[in-house]
Amino acid sequence: MSNLLNVLSDDDEPWYKTGLEFQCTECGGCCTGAPGYVWVSDNEIEQMAAFLDLSTEEFSKRYLRFVNDRMSLKETHPHYDCVFLKDKKCTIYSVRPKQCRTFPWWPQNLKSKQDWEEAAKHCEGIRKQAAKVPFNAIEEQLAIHLKSDE
Ligand code: SF4
Ligand code: SF4
Repeated sequence: MSNLLNVLSDDDEPWYKTGLEFQCTECGGCCTGAPGYVWVSDNEIEQMAAFLDLSTEEFSKRYLRFVNDRMSLKETHPHYDCVFLKDKKCTIYSVRPKQCRTFPWWPQNLKSKQDWEEAAKHCEGIRKQAAKVPFNAIEEQLAIHLKSDE
């Protein structure tokens, strides 16, 4: 059995081939915490702006910051919450960016069991009691995450 992470590692046998336990509790933990970036594409900006009934220019002015020629959602202080996090909920959930939709199925979290366990320290949804997400579903999310933005 091969896996998408073969592009990142020489391991032919994915360590998570029997699936991984995860169930989002919607705690909002991944939308706050240490400073970070939520990268957004032009398409995503258009979708979020339309959802909020704003022009893309107005949306960009209010909610985006430019970092090394890329665009990220702003954070609010003092806790580095995503600008769209309110009362621990995402206020643009149906149009949230790909980076949010595919968490925790990111290459850096799936590279090894140790990396997955590290991710679990910051995500209460990664726990033994949660239902198992099958290998194919993990790979599907990973493929979406790795796909270049149109
Ligand atoms: S930290 Fe984990 S459990 Fe909490 S909202 Fe994010 S993905 Fe869900
Ligand atoms: S857009 Fe929504 S899901 Fe993504 S970080 Fe912000 S609040 Fe969280």
